[in-house]
Amino acid sequence: MLAEDVVYRLRSIYPEGYFHINKDPFYLLISTVLSQRTRDDVTIPTTQKLFNVFGTAQEMAAAGTDEIEGLIKNVGFYRVKARRIIDISNIILNDHGGVVPDSIEELVKLPGVGRKTANCVLGYGFEKDVIAVDTHVHRISNRMGLVNTSEPDETEKALEKVILKKDWKDINGLMVLFGQNICRPVGPRCEECIMDDICAKIL
Ligand code: SF4
Repeated sequence: MLAEDVVYRLRSIYPEGYFHINKDPFYLLISTVLSQRTRDDVTIPTTQKLFNVFGTAQEMAAAGTDEIEGLIKNVGFYRVKARRIIDISNIILNDHGGVVPDSIEELVKLPGVGRKTANCVLGYGFEKDVIAVDTHVHRISNRMGLVNTSEPDETEKALEKVILKKDWKDINGLMVLFGQNICRPVGPRCEECIMDDICAKIL
């Protein structure tokens, strides 16, 4: 089956998966909020810079908006995101006892948190069987012909039908690495890609 073959090949080139990611749910939540409409190479150092100063929900809730803005100004929409980070921190403290909720229903109630962000937290932070569809997963799945969708939420549902459940939570990390290095948004490296013989190449 095509999807199983894709996962097998991705695991063969990235056997460690997305091993370097910080799997603390609060860190994941904030980093995924910061990643919205921002490149990975900007998001990662910016998240670390923020957490070097404010390491917990309690500290972020007590921070001034201008302090957060100053630390995250490299990411897109940083003023909006600074406000959201403070609001999210307050909600987690006041409504969830300082603990990030582990259900999609509660996560998507947080400001600025959609299914992608929620599923990243659930998959990486809580090891739940979910498919987090970010820009890489959406683009690559459609290019390969695994799905034929126009919106990430549709892609999530379509992928659930073709990928074995045991692989759901790993798909995001594998396709992020693949999308950063091979199946890039602009200039995919098809000539050196191990999917060349099975990919639909819908570019
Ligand atoms: S063959 Fe090209 S389009 Fe297909 S997965 Fe590889 S890089 Fe992407």
